[in-house]
Amino acid sequence: MQPISGIHHVTAIASDPQRNLDFYTEVLGMRLVKRTVNFDDPGTYHLYFGDEVGTPGSILTFFSWPMGARGSPGVGQVEATSFGIPENSLSYWERRLLAAGIPAERSGKRFDEEVLTFVDPDGLKLELVAHPQRAGAMRAWKEASVSAQHALRGFYSVTLCEQGYESTVEVLETMGFRKVGEQGNRFRFDVGEGGTGAWVDILCASEASYGRVAVGIVHHVAWRVVDDNSQQSWRKRLVNRHLNVTPVIDRCYFHSIYFREPGGVLFELATDPPGFAIDEPMEKLGEALKLPSWLEPSRKRIEQVLPPIQLRRPIKEA
Ligand code: ZN
Repeated sequence: MQPISGIHHVTAIASDPQRNLDFYTEVLGMRLVKRTVNFDDPGTYHLYFGDEVGTPGSILTFFSWPMGARGSPGVGQVEATSFGIPENSLSYWERRLLAAGIPAERSGKRFDEEVLTFVDPDGLKLELVAHPQRAGAMRAWKEASVSAQHALRGFYSVTLCEQGYESTVEVLETMGFRKVGEQGNRFRFDVGEGGTGAWVDILCASEASYGRVAVGIVHHVAWRVVDDNSQQSWRKRLVNRHLNVTPVIDRCYFHSIYFREPGGVLFELATDPPGFAIDEPMEKLGEALKLPSWLEPSRKRIEQVLPPIQLRRPIKEA
């Protein structure tokens, strides 16, 4: 069976879609790689940000809930979503975030690497981790105002906040994860070939209260499977462990199955293909509202209810 190879995407909840779009494109230098709707709630946006082509492992996506209430972090939720940055880019990002009015805090060394912590305009906790590993398959967006030498290198890890440990670890092991480190109440696992983008940390916080998914909180974490066959094999294995896995759902840009790990975080296994160029040319990604074929007949009504958003051309740094 082909291994799960790391994070495919992370999906979180945002409030105002324009503010969300501005922050991830202009401040973090990501590309809007798809402008679509939440297929399960077509009156709301689903915005995808990633590297130049939306390489799996670089994609942070948002459901927009303009009137949504703030969620609360805590047990059973993703505690932080981390991106990798080059080893010497920490000060650059510190200055850049500060200039954008986003206070960032150096949270010290974690497994020997420096971490910069901040929250997005909706309160979503993000980290930039400076590491020596190369960018790998990630392709910095050339149009971004962040120069390629400092660009985000895709996901580094996700951290799950859990009350317990054993039952989540059992599921991670079923998925092929191995324990690779431990620091205080943080336990690190990797999968596939390991390295950045293939790490998950469990933060054991037995005293903390339960969190709630809403604005500013991660909705689910998707893990990469190479194709549909591999997904079927993984599905069988997870079903055998009574994980209450959904059937395969067509998400247009990948195919997905979902289940909840015992600690409470919603997991997805998403296929690498077909990718974001399936319904628009690579050079036009994110510019127009794309709908799956089954929602095309309702396009007019959908466009009427969605708040207008505008992709601003980033200003190049001198
Ligand atoms: Zn997803």
